[in-house]
Amino acid sequence: MLISVLIPSYNEALVIGESYKRLKKVFTDNNLKDYEFIFINDGSKDQTLSILRFISNDDEHVKIINFSRNFGHQAAVTAGMQECKGDVAIIIDADLQDPPEVIPEMLKIYYEKKCNVVYGVREARKGESFFKLITAKLFYRTLNYLSDVSFPVDTGDFRLVDRKVINAFNKLHEKNKYIRGLISWIGFDQHPVYYKREARFAGETKYPLRKMIRFASIGLFYFSKKPLKLATSIGFLSIIVGLIYVLMIIFSKIFGYGNIVSGWSSMVIIIIFFGGVQLLTIGVLGQYIGSLFDEVKNRPEYIISEKINFRE
Ligand code: UDP
Ligand code: MG
Repeated sequence: MLISVLIPSYNEALVIGESYKRLKKVFTDNNLKDYEFIFINDGSKDQTLSILRFISNDDEHVKIINFSRNFGHQAAVTAGMQECKGDVAIIIDADLQDPPEVIPEMLKIYYEKKCNVVYGVREARKGESFFKLITAKLFYRTLNYLSDVSFPVDTGDFRLVDRKVINAFNKLHEKNKYIRGLISWIGFDQHPVYYKREARFAGETKYPLRKMIRFASIGLFYFSKKPLKLATSIGFLSIIVGLIYVLMIIFSKIFGYGNIVSGWSSMVIIIIFFGGVQLLTIGVLGQYIGSLFDEVKNRPEYIISEKINFRE
């Protein structure tokens, strides 16, 4: 059985050598002989590529997909899925936050349960900011509530997938991929493996807030249509509030109580509030139109400039 390990790498010069060593050790210690390590160099600006080249000279198990520029983590994983030959593929971060030592455990579950996916669930997360922990927790739970597919919570992309799932995944043509969601959506038999997420070995996160928000909004807007219904619900609500107000005015005119004309502050509040609601709902529409635009353009998700150690 051929095992493909997919390792997206972006500016990981400080860790990539160590990642290779740890992975290699796990495979030799466990007597696994048939494997390929596919490093996807996602347009790194540091020494990542030259270190990888150096490693791949001495080890034919090491393959490199070199992107023409930075296309993002999800595109890198997608390229790995397209190019790998394995009977199973294991997606793992380059920064050793997902310990390679969990791989034998994943394989064990895969054999025992005869399942199609073994996904890593983070029991603990080390070296992560309070802000990231809280936003991640909130996000996964909100997405689950909004989406029709149910996703396991506290799960990243660290997982093992078998050939059936790889083939199904490679048939998906969306240009912006939220991979963990898509794999849940694909279905088949999926089992968790629990592990402790380590702190990054060296270097810093390649997911600044801007990328995190982009990633989260792809998850949200590609897996749920509920935000689109927001405008309708708020519209109905405001009609009802308006009607009640009309009734109040009519009654007070007839029976002559209350002072309806109470200045402009109430007016201004209403204008600002509904102005905000309108902008918000137009924004939501805009998000979906933007996604449609990305899909309609039909550009490739990534461009490969070079493949190393791949034998056709
Ligand atoms: N990564 C990538 N392209 C990017 C950003 C990140 O290939 O544009 C890789 C990165 O090298 C790492 C993995 O994706 O192997 C996860 O990134 P990171 O560890 O920075 O994210 P975090 O764990 O902080 O969420
Ligand atoms: Mg990381």
